[in-house]
Amino acid sequence: MELKQPAFLPTTRQEMRALGWEALDVLLVTGDAYVDHPSFGAALLGRLLVARGLRTGIVAQPRWTTPEDVSRMGRPRLFAGVTAGALDSMLAHYTAFRKKRHDDAYTPGGRAGARPNRAVIVYSNLVRQAFPGLVVILGGIEASLRRITHYDFWSDSLRRPILLDAKADLLVWGMGEAPLIAVARTMLQAEESGMVPDLTGIPGTAWMGGPEQVPEGQAVLELPSHESIQQDPRLLMQATLASEHHVQRGDAWAVQPVSGRTLLLAPPPPPPTSRQLDEVFELPFSRRAHPGYTEAIPAEEMMRWSVNTHRGCGGGCSFCSLALHQGRRVASRSRGSILREVRSLTRMPGWTGSISDVGGPSANMWGARCTLDPSRCTRASCLFPAVCPGFRVDQSAGVELLREVARQEGVRHVRVASGIRHDLALQDPQALKALTMEFTGGQLKVAPEHLSERVLRGMRKPAREVFERFLEEFRRHSQAAGKEQYVIPYLISAFPGCTDQDMRELADWLRSRGWTPRQVQCFIPTPGTVATAMYFTGLDPEGNPIHVARSDAERLRQHGILCPERGRKPVRGQGPERRDNPQQGGKPQRDEKPGHGRKPQRGEKPGHGGKPQRDEKPGHGARPQRPGRPTSGREPMPDGAGRGHKPDRGGKPGREARSPERQPGPRRAPDPAKSQPPGRPSGTRTPSGQARKNQGRRGPGRRR
Ligand code: SF4
Repeated sequence: MELKQPAFLPTTRQEMRALGWEALDVLLVTGDAYVDHPSFGAALLGRLLVARGLRTGIVAQPRWTTPEDVSRMGRPRLFAGVTAGALDSMLAHYTAFRKKRHDDAYTPGGRAGARPNRAVIVYSNLVRQAFPGLVVILGGIEASLRRITHYDFWSDSLRRPILLDAKADLLVWGMGEAPLIAVARTMLQAEESGMVPDLTGIPGTAWMGGPEQVPEGQAVLELPSHESIQQDPRLLMQATLASEHHVQRGDAWAVQPVSGRTLLLAPPPPPPTSRQLDEVFELPFSRRAHPGYTEAIPAEEMMRWSVNTHRGCGGGCSFCSLALHQGRRVASRSRGSILREVRSLTRMPGWTGSISDVGGPSANMWGARCTLDPSRCTRASCLFPAVCPGFRVDQSAGVELLREVARQEGVRHVRVASGIRHDLALQDPQALKALTMEFTGGQLKVAPEHLSERVLRGMRKPAREVFERFLEEFRRHSQAAGKEQYVIPYLISAFPGCTDQDMRELADWLRSRGWTPRQVQCFIPTPGTVATAMYFTGLDPEGNPIHVARSDAERLRQHGILCPERGRKPVRGQGPERRDNPQQGGKPQRDEKPGHGRKPQRGEKPGHGGKPQRDEKPGHGARPQRPGRPTSGREPMPDGAGRGHKPDRGGKPGREARSPERQPGPRRAPDPAKSQPPGRPSGTRTPSGQARKNQGRRGPGRRR
């Protein structure tokens, strides 16, 4: 059915009626505010579904005390899709030291508190409560990265695949377009034939079933069962590496036994073609927040005039969720489509002539491709320990694209604000020269992340010498252009394998150059990554024991070596008592004892974090958060559609209460003396030679 694209997707029954829609076909529930921009997953998928003739509505940041918001447009005909938004809700709510954040770039006013903890589970429950029997599909970064057994930093525990906790019918992992369209098609066919829809086997999805559902003759990656990982935490590394390989390989199924059932993951869909990406990005987005909002949404401001050129990143950094979500195969838009989008920007209200960013997860990977056979690839990174001979990217073509963008009528400035891969940049001196001289805008973001060789190996990042060479080239070209320009290095403290000595080495290097680092993130073990498995198991991917800074005291200490103002002592009530457990963190640190540091602040009551999972059921966790002061927000992280994220850079330790979800988990710190290399996932190979973001608030449906 032909369906006209509305100015905004409907968020209320009144808006539905204005469009002449009596009912929805698909309902999307999201933890982000509704901004009609392709960097917002729900907006992009909603527009795509409308383009396929499906009447799609959005409920953004619903109240979780009642199903009223979720049900306000009535029961959708086919299914409901649920996402936490562009960030994992726990990452959105808590800092690297498990302190509450005050800000949320994806919420009106930039305030935290508009979505619940573990939003995917809560929203799924709300939908089932509102519409019993309706097919519920999970998606977005939170669901995607929690699709198998994973370590949850905020509760310090292993959690089972999120499908089981959310009790949803299906989980879409990775990019959502193709799977969601396939689901809609299946549902429509079932409706026509009067049959029960069979949603199993759709590429890019996971569901609970039985091993017999794997088609005969298909390659299968068998992940350790959830229960076996609970018994032997070292198996988390095996499961994580297998999951990473599952995405890269592209032609295998994956299964994980859990609670007497089987989690099945179909192979990923093929990366989108340029034509498919073009179609999606050229949908008629207004690039604005829904007019129902009365306060600015920081992420909208940050992204309105940015242009996304590609998806995926060959880097495969061990701490980054991209490899598990978008994958390492880069999918790029066509030059023509990017230029058409730029021209459309210049005709929009509020256009100032500046494009804030033209890029993707790594800005200099537009057009990158594997000239070998990626399905047979056993490397964990296309760039580490050295750029793979099969990895090809014409960076000069990327620069020429930027020049063409800059030549468009009405365009005065073009910047590349996405980070670039400096090792890759060195491979094309002319492109680096042009990027430095023409499009840097005074500051260039680069992510060496560290400079200690051992830490870099664990991160799957290029060696220090590569970064130094890059700096020299950047300095030379900036000087030649007569510009005073700076590299903004992104750095990580307390990475698994990193010691105080490694941090001092990094600090000394920075000091020797007179640099004061501004972008330092204390490592956050986000769900699903290899680095998180390293943090949890105390092993590198080859099974060798590594030092892990686990206690808040040590993490703060490492952080403080680079950022002295942030490395203050933790204080009573701020959360390190868990570390007093010799099972988990060894002997209590001096800094962890009560009596050191400042007085507890309001809301820091010890013991406040006891009860787990309160927020997961509708009706709980409903108290409105105290609004924090609006901030400029953090780097955005991609959802089903957006650009690549920078691993969240976190904030300084806050002054509010500890995470309410800390619970004694089943985790046992592995005894290094007994450490064995984790077994290899069936059909996979351990990578060799490499170790690799209110009630009372205003929004659609909650108007004044
Ligand atoms: S063969 Fe090389 S370029 Fe291709 S996916 Fe593997 S590492 Fe990347």
